[in-house]
Amino acid sequence: MINLKLDSNKFISKIYSETLIEELNKIFELFNFDKSIYIKFFRDKSEIEKILGHSVPTWIKGVAIDNYVYILEYNDMSYKNKREFEKVIIHEIVHIVVDFSIRGSYPQWLNEGLAVVLAKQHENMQYTKILDLDVKNLGYNDDFYYEKCCAATMKYIDKYGIKSFIKKLIDDEIKFDSQ
Ligand SMILES: [Zn+2]
Repeated sequence: MINLKLDSNKFISKIYSETLIEELNKIFELFNFDKSIYIKFFRDKSEIEKILGHSVPTWIKGVAIDNYVYILEYNDMSYKNKREFEKVIIHEIVHIVVDFSIRGSYPQWLNEGLAVVLAKQHENMQYTKILDLDVKNLGYNDDFYYEKCCAATMKYIDKYGIKSFIKKLIDDEIKFDSQ
């Protein structure tokens, strides 16, 4: 069962919606995940930098560490609509769920790709145009980083289906040559 803990009531109405809870429930079920996740909201990225002890890129919307999700909210207009905001929250939560659930080693692009796909951010992403799926040395600063992670991840989802792909990941049944 889904267990989210929010540090202030101020934002509960903003993030709570049937869709968000429903989608998170599905993700938690998919991974058989039942740990608590703490969500904290920040207005300024310097506050997150203070906690992390290092700087973060200006485009960053959220960070996931251990079982904490830090969501940056520059202002209410930062997100075109509530749905986009929810996707950012789901994306960061998926990072935590993946980190906790997959026992074996897995490449970073996969964690990123799963976060994009399970948050449904790929729906408006032109990842199918990515033909070069060499993601071995992919880094955050690469052009089309998220599109490439998504394209590489979708290859596996298309092959196995999301349910059995995740089960195989959890059981460490897939070996990745491109770590
Ligand atoms: Zn991410």
